[in-house]
Order: sequence, then C-alpha cells, then structure tokens
Amino acid sequence: EVVTRFAPSPTGFLHIGGARTALFNWLYARHHGGRTLLRIEDTDTKRSTQAAIDAIIDGLDWLGLDFDAPPVFQSDRAERHAEVAWQLLEAGHAYKCFAKPEELEAMREEQRAQKKPLRYDGRWRDRDPAEAPEGAPFVIRLKTPNEGEVTIHDRVQGAVTVKNEEIDDYIILRADGTPTYMLAVVVDDHDMGVTHVIRGDDHLNNAFRQLPIIRAMNAIEGGWADPVYAHIPLIHGSDGAKLSKRHGALGVEAYRDEFGILPEALFNYLLRLGWGHGDREEITREEATQLFDLAGVGKSPSRFDMKKLENLNGHYLREADDARLAALVATQIGEHADVALLTRAMPVLKVRAKNIGEIVDGAGFLFAKTPLVMSEKAAGLLEGDARSILRKVYEALRAENDWTSEALEATTKALAEELELGLGKLAQPMRAALTGTTTSPGIFDVLVLLGRDEALARLQAQAA
Ligand code: GLU
Repeated sequence: EVVTRFAPSPTGFLHIGGARTALFNWLYARHHGGRTLLRIEDTDTKRSTQAAIDAIIDGLDWLGLDFDAPPVFQSDRAERHAEVAWQLLEAGHAYKCFAKPEELEAMREEQRAQKKPLRYDGRWRDRDPAEAPEGAPFVIRLKTPNEGEVTIHDRVQGAVTVKNEEIDDYIILRADGTPTYMLAVVVDDHDMGVTHVIRGDDHLNNAFRQLPIIRAMNAIEGGWADPVYAHIPLIHGSDGAKLSKRHGALGVEAYRDEFGILPEALFNYLLRLGWGHGDREEITREEATQLFDLAGVGKSPSRFDMKKLENLNGHYLREADDARLAALVATQIGEHADVALLTRAMPVLKVRAKNIGEIVDGAGFLFAKTPLVMSEKAAGLLEGDARSILRKVYEALRAENDWTSEALEATTKALAEELELGLGKLAQPMRAALTGTTTSPGIFDVLVLLGRDEALARLQAQAA
C-alpha cells in the first residue's frame, strides 16, 4: 500500500510551495489507491502558532485536499522519539556526547580557521561515558557510518550519492531530553507507515542524514524500510530567483481572498507547476487523479506565473456554477447585493473575467444607486450631442414592449439607421448612462439585467 504524507511546519501560512507538495502527495496516494496523511511538525514551539495551524488546515480544505486520518501533531510524540533515541543508544548505534558548548565552539573556531567544514568531530564516539563527571549533561548523537557512500534513487532527482564522511554524528536527543527534528521526522514516518516521502528538494540533504536512523532501527528490530524518496524542485519567481514574498509567495488564502482565484484553478495551476502531461493545461481533479505520477515531475525549478494562473482561473470561472459565483461575488459586494440578480447576470458578467474581483467590478452597475456616479471617461461619452441622442434612444426603447436583448438590439439598430449614425454613437452614451462606466457587458444584456423601469430611468436621467 502507498502511504504519503504532508508534513508542514506551522510557522507561517500554507504557501504556494507547501500547497503544491501537499497536492503531489495527495495525488500520488489517490492515483495509487493508497492513503495520504497530515502531520503538523510543531516542535519548534517558539515559531509554531495556532493561527498558522488553522491557516494550513483551512487552505488544504479549500483546495479540496483531504486526508485519510486526523492530523498527527509531532509535539505529542516526543516521548516516542526519545524512546527510539535510547534504543539506538543501547544497541550501539548512538552514543552520549558530553562535550560542553564552549568546547564545541572552540572546535568550530579551529575548523573555521582551517577552512574546513564545520562538523562535529566525533570526539565522544569511542570514548567511555564513564570518563564524564558524575551527572554531567549530555546529548545523544547518532553514530553514522564513516566510510563508504550512500546512493538514493530519488524518483525525481535520479541517483544521488553522498560520501558518508560528509555526514556528521548529529544530535538526535538534546541535553534536556527533547528530540531533534531529524529524529522526529524519521520516527513519525515509520510509525505512520509512510512509504513515499514526497517533499521539496531543500530536504534532499536531510534524507542522507535520516537514512542512517532508518537503517540502524531496521538492524535493531526489523520493519524499518527505506522509503521511496521524491524531492521536488522548488518554485521560483518569474525572474528565476527562489520564490519569496516579493514574488507573491503568499498564503493560499491570499489567492482566494485578495486575488479572487477559484480553488479548482489553483489546484490545476499547482499541478502544472512542476508536473506535465504533454502540453495539456486544463486538467480537472478527476483527470489529475488518473494521470498523476512521479515520472511526470520535472527536475528543474518551475516558475510561478500569475498570468497563467489567471488564465486558468478565467477558464474555471466560465465553467463554474453561476449561483456559486454569485454567492462569492455577493460576499464582496456586501449587504445590498442581490444574489438572484447576480446569478442571472453571471453568464454575461464572467465572460472575460480572470478573477472574482473583476466580476465584482463588472457587477457594480447592477447595484448602483440613482443618480448614477459617472466615471470621468463615462462623463466624456456624454458630451456633444450624446445627450440628445440618448433622448431619442430613450423614446424608442420606451415604446418597446418586448424587453429582450434581441428586440432591444433590433430597435436600437433601426434607430441608428434612421439617424444615419453608427451603432457605437448610440451604444457608448447608453453604456455611460446605464452603468456610469465605459466597460460593461454587452449593452443589450445590460438593459435586460437592469429591467425595463430601472434602465429607462437611467437613460432618461442623462438624456437632454
Ligand atoms: N516540516 C518540514 C517543512 O515544513 C517538512 C519535513 C518533511 O517533509 O520531511 O519543511
């Protein structure tokens, strides 16, 4: 059985990179009929916050990424982590190190002076703990192999080899008895039955430090298999630099609340960011579940491109249910929004929109109070003979009994011909009078959506 996990540290929002890691884990498990789990790595108590935990869970939920068990909180498991550290110690795969902080600082100072890598030198590796003074504080360090090398056959990065001498005897249990991050991850992955570790490639180095724990525990009690690793390249900004706040490395809720992105659009975009299936851009959740595999994950960093995200969003807005969009738009417009009217208007409002905000702007005319506030450009369209043209339009439409866009168009066109004017000469001041703006859905749709009384009143208000 395939078991994947998403293991965020709740020190900030669920950012784009994290969301994509979660998505790939979710898809991989769903594709293979396995399970996917959530582990909140909240051991850094100074930086972990409840607000961040809530934001992460909320963001995952919004994206529709569900998990097959309640979240595991790493901080609840410290005793279990310590237990493994002591098992490693007793079996000779780890040892007590009594080196004092000042001593280690001196060691590093010397390494710095000699331009050597800063690395614990194994000074307690072969020493008898009895040499330490009675009751002296100690940490437990992993006894990592010194010779040879380790190769990881990463499903994204390919074969990656590291010499064992490069991996120091790092701390697994601190002097106060608390586990380190490196130990906690390995123990939790094992206990949760994780078979596939899919995460950002900033963790590739950690894999080489985590494997010795897994292998030592396997030697001790069996049942600790190397996981399959897949380290995904990070997301870069459009300028090629690592994604940062400056590039919009915001929480997913910002894409929802500030940028008006639909979850299915972000889902599709994140999927395409680093994974490909031919040149298909639009891929639904169901198709993604069928098609996703690690083989399609690229080796080079992908670039975040807001334009592409908005184009996909435009596609999903057009596909989306109108009542659902109306409800989203209504919450932004506020109390005076009429959801039923918005739902009716949605097919014409969403045609060219790339985000919810554009629909909100486009819908403004529906709820505008009389007298209409004119934009500067709209006022410009009412200069010259525009108002007297509007008078004629008003009269022609007032005589119209069939208030459908076809009939209104026919009547307006007939009037334009009679006046020997292009249709635009009529439509532009009409748009200004009806919406107070110079951009709006098709003018005959606007007439219908406003309804006969309101439309005629707005025309009349601006007519000479
Ligand atoms: N908690 C780590 C992070 O947020 C992920 C650890 C892992 O996936 O092994 O970067």
